Amino acid sequence: MNEKTMFNLTYGLFVLTARQGEKDSGCIINTAGQVTAVPNRISIAVNKTNYTHDMVLGTGKFNVSILSEAADFSIFKRFGFQSGRDVNKFDGYANMKRSENGIYYITEGTNGYISASVEQTLDLGTHTLFIASVEDMDVLSSVPSTTYTYYQNNIKPKPQPKPETEKGKTIWRCRICGYEYVGEELPADFICPICKHPASDFEKITG
Ligand code: FE
Repeated sequence: MNEKTMFNLTYGLFVLTARQGEKDSGCIINTAGQVTAVPNRISIAVNKTNYTHDMVLGTGKFNVSILSEAADFSIFKRFGFQSGRDVNKFDGYANMKRSENGIYYITEGTNGYISASVEQTLDLGTHTLFIASVEDMDVLSSVPSTTYTYYQNNIKPKPQPKPETEKGKTIWRCRICGYEYVGEELPADFICPICKHPASDFEKITG
């Protein structure tokens, strides 16, 4: 079995947003897709470690903003590289509006948004799969939707020059967010705890 086959599936990228009480949050997902047309339903799979996951589970409502090729890396940093448990991801941000359900959607670097209401949930261990009916949606731009591949090739910053480290010490540094793992070998299945990028996005730095 060739595990790399999964890399040949296409994935879009989306900002999933929710609102619970007076609190707004959002996270980046790559798992939104239409599952039926009549009625219009979408599915999303969300990692349980995301604060937004708990908000969607608690309220049964969410918006999916579809990221386009015009999306700036700062959107990924804001919504993907920090936790809504620690920070308000909308602090100092102006590129959003509220849809009719009262939840924010993203107006920059996106080409559409979908408001949905959860019909069914399926516990998948690490993730919850939500099946939701579409309640409202609109097109925001004609810029093509980004794919995960486009993000990797065009939006994600290129590797920075290698920094120095103390003599005799080995660290693995995430090229995306700068997280440092200390140790001789980085496990092959390591996932960056900050930005969720895989071991292949780490560079070895030896002193
Ligand atoms: Fe990282």
